Parts: sequence; C-alpha cells; structure tokens
Amino acid sequence: MERNDAVLEKAEQALEAYLHGQGLRCTPERNAILEAVFMTDGNFTPDMLLEEMTERQNFRVSRATVYNNLTIFEQAGLVKRLLHEGKIKYTLGWHENCNVSLVCSGCGQVTEVQNKRIDKLVHEMKLRRFQMTGYSLQIFGLCSKCSQALRRRMKQKKNRQNK
Ligand SMILES: [Zn+2]
Repeated sequence: MERNDAVLEKAEQALEAYLHGQGLRCTPERNAILEAVFMTDGNFTPDMLLEEMTERQNFRVSRATVYNNLTIFEQAGLVKRLLHEGKIKYTLGWHENCNVSLVCSGCGQVTEVQNKRIDKLVHEMKLRRFQMTGYSLQIFGLCSKCSQALRRRMKQKKNRQNK
C-alpha cells in the first residue's frame, strides 16, 4: 500500500498531542514505529510490524518496544487491538476517507468500507472546542463465512432435536 503522507502527518500530530498530555516523550523510535504502522495494509500483528521494521527498513527495535508503543498508539486511538484466532492483531484506528470498519465477531476479520454520506455527516458535525484529527466507526456482525457456518450449526442442532 502506498503511504499516505497526509494521513501519517495527522497521525503524528495526534500522537504528539497524546504524548504531550501524558507527559511522555516523542522519540525517533516511536515515530519510526508509527510510520511502519502506516506502511502496512492496515491489518497487522506486532510480529509483522517488527519484521517490516527490521528487515525492510533496517531499523533495529526490540519486540518489547514494539509492543509498548502499540499499547500507547491504542490509547491514543491510532490503532485498534483485536483478537483473531487467539492472536493479537492490530488495525489502523482511523483513516482519512475510509472510516467504517466491518468487524466480524466470529473470526475477527476487519473490512474497511467507504461511505461518503457518513463521512460527510461526520465532517459537518459542529464540534465545540474540539479539533478532530480523525474518526472511526465499527460495525459488528458476522462475515459471510461465519454466518454460513452459524447457519450450518443451527441446522444441525435442529436436526438433532427433531430426531
Ligand atoms: Zn468471520
């Protein structure tokens, strides 16, 4: 995925504001991890991020640092943590135009969809004494695979009861 510099810049601003509010420092390492996050396709595990940084960007960073920073990014609203097949997975917390995430409660799959009407509504909202840096909307439900599997299970259950 091409890096979207405008989105990254906004994310950096949001992170800086968060760190400042928490009395934490903005380090080059932190910024490099944030940049790596935005280089992913939006869904990643901490290990994938570590690989991206050490192998492709040749940036030495410890696993603990990646995990710690992801926790900070999550608190700052930049990423969202999901549990997928027992593994911790992250997804971007917000994008510039693509803000609606469909989250499958069954398998944890996240699909980003665009909705111009929702986007327009959010941007037209009058926010008092508040500067928006981004937003996210999560819709929970079941992906087609999981809803099919559920229907199959329900049918089997019914068949067993009828016997
Ligand atoms: Zn699913």
